[in-house]
Amino acid sequence: MHETDMTRALIQTLQDWWQSQPERPRITHVHLIVGRFTCVEPVSLELAYAVQTQATFLEGSQLVIRETPLIAYCDACQKDYEPEIGQRYACPTCGSPMEEIRSGRELKIDRIECLSDVRESAV
Ligand SMILES: [Zn+2]
Repeated sequence: MHETDMTRALIQTLQDWWQSQPERPRITHVHLIVGRFTCVEPVSLELAYAVQTQATFLEGSQLVIRETPLIAYCDACQKDYEPEIGQRYACPTCGSPMEEIRSGRELKIDRIECLSDVRESAV
């Protein structure tokens, strides 16, 4: 589905970061945090990344995806829970429909690994 567009946006972000670096480091790994609720298939994302980074400054670098679970908050019970598709994401304790998502919708760069050094990124 939208993995191609997401990859394009991701590469753009990486390029902006890379171009702002005076030494233009060689990027080896890009660590991504992908929420379960983004409906992104990690495998599709990796595939799109491999295709789109060919013959670019990112060629040969690897995408490392860490999935974060979907966590919702139930107002009635005043606690977090892990919604399940089978239960239509409702609270397992009281059955209230899901209203507030705590995490699981993020898609962001955790950190960028470069050759001969590891740096934290603020992107
Ligand atoms: Zn509840």
